[in-house]
Amino acid sequence: MEPTLPNRADPASPASPGAAALLAEGLDAWRDLPAAQQPPWPDQAVLAEVTAELASVPPLVFAGECDQLKGQLAQAARGEAFLLQGGDCAETFADATADRIRNKIKTILQMAVVLTYGASLPVIKVGRMAGQYSKPRSSGTETRAGVELPAYRGDAINDYEFEAGARTPDPRRLLKAYHTSSATLNLIRAFTKGGFADLRQVHEWNRGFTSTPANARYEALAKDIDRAMRFMAACGGDFEALRTVDFYSSHEALLLDYERALTRIDSRTGTPYNVSAHFLWIGERTRQLDGAHVDLMSRVRNPIGVKLGPATTVDDALALIDRLDPQGEPGRLTFVTRMGAGRIRDVLPGLVEGVRDAGRTVLWVCDPMHGNTFESASGYKTRRFEDVMSEVRGFFEVHQALGTVPGGLHVELTGDDVTECLGGAEKIEDGDLATRYESLCDPRLNHQQSLEMAFLVSQTLGTR
Ligand code: PEP
Ligand code: MN
Repeated sequence: MEPTLPNRADPASPASPGAAALLAEGLDAWRDLPAAQQPPWPDQAVLAEVTAELASVPPLVFAGECDQLKGQLAQAARGEAFLLQGGDCAETFADATADRIRNKIKTILQMAVVLTYGASLPVIKVGRMAGQYSKPRSSGTETRAGVELPAYRGDAINDYEFEAGARTPDPRRLLKAYHTSSATLNLIRAFTKGGFADLRQVHEWNRGFTSTPANARYEALAKDIDRAMRFMAACGGDFEALRTVDFYSSHEALLLDYERALTRIDSRTGTPYNVSAHFLWIGERTRQLDGAHVDLMSRVRNPIGVKLGPATTVDDALALIDRLDPQGEPGRLTFVTRMGAGRIRDVLPGLVEGVRDAGRTVLWVCDPMHGNTFESASGYKTRRFEDVMSEVRGFFEVHQALGTVPGGLHVELTGDDVTECLGGAEKIEDGDLATRYESLCDPRLNHQQSLEMAFLVSQTLGTR
């Protein structure tokens, strides 16, 4: 009798060649499923050419790095580490400059140091960087002064300029997204492996930023760290481990043609990995259980995330776990909750409890941004720093009460002194937003607000 092959390969033990072949075969199953938020590409022939080219370009990340991150996320799910994931809502090609990338990396490194020092916990650093070039939109079109054009969907798809040609989706932009991701990741690797991220540079990361109360506080902490390191050096300590840091890339896996073309069979294991980033997440608008996004992500071996909004039920969460992490592989699945400051204390407890009581383990991460967006009186899409922090505090309170693990933060931030979110120590007001509002999509915390958040969270983590 023929042995019956399972429908889907066992992702936790992908060694059997038959199972691996099945996984690989299913990589195009999404094409027959409903796929939300895909751009209406006007020219399918060009799309086919582009995806064929993308399928042959070198991977941006190595599957082994994805496994390493998965192992670290498993630690975070157990409360032995903390995830810090941050970057732009939407990266742009124009902003892929050395200065902007460096400022973002420095900001994340500074936040990580503040968190590590306050909580004595390793911090896993993941950028919303090197691939965050596409956005889901609530409406397919945008109307200005009676003129209706396709909505801006991110630099991988069309141009922000409000003009018919610029807004027409162009598949060739996918190639530019790949190459810009590649250049960005190259600089990230150079900075974080080439000495710049050495903990002995802890003061250096503060240089070049406007002096603010948060910076001054950072400077004081950096002095403490210096002293500790001099002590270690005097004791003959080995600094090799402090010389480099692991810094991972992530983006929303939204554009299925792009994500599929950058999915490859790992030569070590014979299983598929998405090699466009270390970590991919499925957005709140594209996490339909029978949809294309969940299907494609269920077949790659990267660590993955799913955004969960306030309407998520326990059944939804458990069904997502069944689809995306059937074997309960440590570090595989992260739930990024984005409930809003006004809802988190009501809706998060039931969800976390339901997952816990079903005996499932995921990494719970707080996105305090996307449930707190509103339009200000002057017409800017903004967020109040106060609301953002209230959601973060709610996240910790809920997990503390349930005895579960608040495992990380997912934040939209930039290293520049933009004025996009209200409040913080600088007390940015509605009238200030116009001064330096640069985001083409959602408002980001600026450098000072990001550091402030890190200090507030480190206090909470430190008292756990
Ligand atoms: C985002 O992270 O920019 C985003 C669109 O989030 P969500 O899917 O949670 O709305
Ligand atoms: Mn966003």
